Amino acid sequence: MNSQLRVVKCPQCGTPVPWGPESKWRPFCSERCKLIDLGDWATGRYRIETQEAPDAMNAPPESAPDKEPGST
Ligand SMILES: [Zn+2]
Repeated sequence: MNSQLRVVKCPQCGTPVPWGPESKWRPFCSERCKLIDLGDWATGRYRIETQEAPDAMNAPPESAPDKEPGST
């Protein structure tokens, strides 16, 4: 039996990072790379597209179950 050590690449710089308890910042190689990646998120590099979803806004009020026909 051999204890295989899984190695991942740092998403930021590509450095091989051993996937284990000793790799504190996995999957990043270091805190620096992790912070860089978080910075990318913060600056909108991975911006999620939410602008094009006007369907819900323009939906006509079809269902108005306030009045029940035949109650009066
Ligand atoms: Zn790195």
